[in-house]
Amino acid sequence: MSPPGRPKGEYRSAQHEGNPMSHDPNCIFCKISAGQIASRKVYEDDELIAFHDIAPWAPVHFLIIPKEHVATMYDTGEEHAPMMGRMMALAPRLARDLGVVSGFRIVVNTGPDGRQEVQHVHMHVMGGPRPWLKG
Ligand code: AMP
Repeated sequence: MSPPGRPKGEYRSAQHEGNPMSHDPNCIFCKISAGQIASRKVYEDDELIAFHDIAPWAPVHFLIIPKEHVATMYDTGEEHAPMMGRMMALAPRLARDLGVVSGFRIVVNTGPDGRQEVQHVHMHVMGGPRPWLKG
């Protein structure tokens, strides 16, 4: 018989542990989206915001985030599919606007093994001429 609770080693974010906040006052990306912390903004609408990564790996490296606090991709459900789709569709548009016309990479780090450092869903978009610092 399986032990109660989740399988050994399965990651659960704070949000998944029963903290379904749409804004987390301790989250750095919530603070950026609320304008409480400065960022080099690339794009903003009602649902999404994009800004340059503070420690870029590539000549162009920006992040697209939802304004809603969703900790990780594990915390997304069917209801987030349109928002995730919009993030994906926005990436090539912003990349092109920033002069990235020869390809780019999208990364969404998730959970500890995915090396996610900031617990607010974000899409890295990296491009520009090689070599890059990483990736
Ligand atoms: P991850 O490892 O996928 O969680 O990546 C988090 C990213 O957020 C890193 O690439 C950081 O350089 C970036 N980052 C952290 N704080 C800021 C900030 N204040 N402004 C812009 N980017 C940030």
